[in-house]
Amino acid sequence: MHALCRRALHAALLVGAAAAGAAEPAFQITPVDDAWFKALPMDPQAATDAFMARIPPDVKARADAYFVGGYWLQLWNFLLGLMVAALLLFTPWSARCRDALRRRLRRPFWADAAYAALYLLAGSVLTLPLAIYQGFIREHAYGLATQDFGAWAGEQLMQLGIGTVLGGLAIGLLYAVLRASGARWWLWGAVAMSSVMAVTIAIGPVFIEPLFNTYKPMPDGLLKDQLLRMAQANGVPVDNVFVFDASRQTHRVSANVSGLMGTAAVRLNDNLLNRASPDEVVAVMAHEIGHYTLNHIPKMLLQLGVLIAAGFLFCDAVMRALLVRLGTRWRVEGIADVGSLPLLAAVFGTWMFLATPLLNTIIRVHEVEADLWGLNLAREPLAEAEVLLKLVEYRKPDPGPIEEFIFFDHPSTRTRIFNAMQWRANLGDTAEP
Ligand SMILES: [Zn+2]
Repeated sequence: MHALCRRALHAALLVGAAAAGAAEPAFQITPVDDAWFKALPMDPQAATDAFMARIPPDVKARADAYFVGGYWLQLWNFLLGLMVAALLLFTPWSARCRDALRRRLRRPFWADAAYAALYLLAGSVLTLPLAIYQGFIREHAYGLATQDFGAWAGEQLMQLGIGTVLGGLAIGLLYAVLRASGARWWLWGAVAMSSVMAVTIAIGPVFIEPLFNTYKPMPDGLLKDQLLRMAQANGVPVDNVFVFDASRQTHRVSANVSGLMGTAAVRLNDNLLNRASPDEVVAVMAHEIGHYTLNHIPKMLLQLGVLIAAGFLFCDAVMRALLVRLGTRWRVEGIADVGSLPLLAAVFGTWMFLATPLLNTIIRVHEVEADLWGLNLAREPLAEAEVLLKLVEYRKPDPGPIEEFIFFDHPSTRTRIFNAMQWRANLGDTAEP
C-alpha cells in the first residue's frame, strides 16, 4: 500500500478508536521491587539494558508508533504550510486584503499587523483538520489526552486569539524593521524576533499560562522543603514551589523552572506529583533547576537568534529571485511589502524545516547538560532512570543514532538512562546507602 494511503487508513482507524472511547493510558512499565534494584549490575551498559528490558514489547511498539507518527506530522504540517502560502499568493485575496487594510489603516505598522493577524487566522482555518487530528484525535487514540472535544476546542480558540494578536504585532514589528533597516533587515529582524521571544518567555508564566491552568503553591512538607532548598542553593530566585493541574489536559508528566529574571518560577505538574515517587520528583526538578542555573533560556535565545538571522539571509536571497519572476503576478512590491508575508512564511518555514536536526541538536545538548547537573544535584541515578522510563509514553525509547540526531530534541530514553548509569558507576557509591 502507498505510504500516504496507509497513513490515511491509520488516521481513520484512530478516529474510530477515539470515538469508541477505547483510549486508556497504555504505557505501563513493568514494576520491580527493592531486590531488583539491589541486584542491578554496576556496569553502565548492563544496568541500562536491565532498565530498558522493563519496557514491555507492546508499550515499546506503541511509543514507537506515536513518536514516528510525529515525524510524518512534521512533514505534513510543513507541506500544508507551503500550500496555504501558495494559495494566498496565486489567488487575488491576499493582495486585495493588503490594499483594503492600507486604505483603512493609515499607519503602516497597524496595516501590516492587521494583515499578519488575518494571515495567521486564515492559516489556522485552512489547517484545521490536521490540527484536530494532531491535537485531539491522535492524543486520545494514544491515551494521552484527558479533555473532551468542547474543552479542547475552547482552549484552542483562546490560543488562536492570543497567537493572532501577539503574532500580528510581532510581524508588524518585523516589517517596520524591514522598512527602516534596508539591506541589513535580516540582522535587525532577527534581533527584533529574538527580543519578542524573550518578552514572551518573560510574560508567559504571569499572563498566558494561568489562562490555561491553575497554579497553586505546593502543599508544605519535606518534599517541598527539599525542592526549595535545591532551587535556592542553585541561584533560582524563588520562595515557593507551584503545582499546576495539567491533568485537565493530559496524562503526561512534566515540570519546569521557567520565566526570565523576575518571573522565574519552579513548577511541577500534578501528573508528576501523582505518578512519581518523591525521589523521582527530586530527580526531575534537579534537572529543571539545571536549565536555570546553566542559563539555558538566554543561551537558547542567542542560538535561535543566529539561526533566525541566517534564515532571514536565506529568505532575502530566495525571495528576491522569486519576486523578480513572479512579483508582478502576485502583486507584491518587494520584500518590505507585507503582501510578501506568505512567501516569507513559506521560505522561512522551509529553512526551519531543513534546520530541524540543528535545532534539535541545540536543544538536546542543553538537555544532556541539565541531566548531568540534575544527577550531581539530586544524586538519584536510579530514581532518574525510573522516571525516564515513564517518559516512554511520548518519546521513542531506543532509536538508532542517526534517527536520534535528526528527530530528538531530548536524548532518547536509552541514552539518558545510560548517562545516569555511567554517573552511578563513577560516583554512585557516594550517593546510594
Ligand atoms: Zn530539560
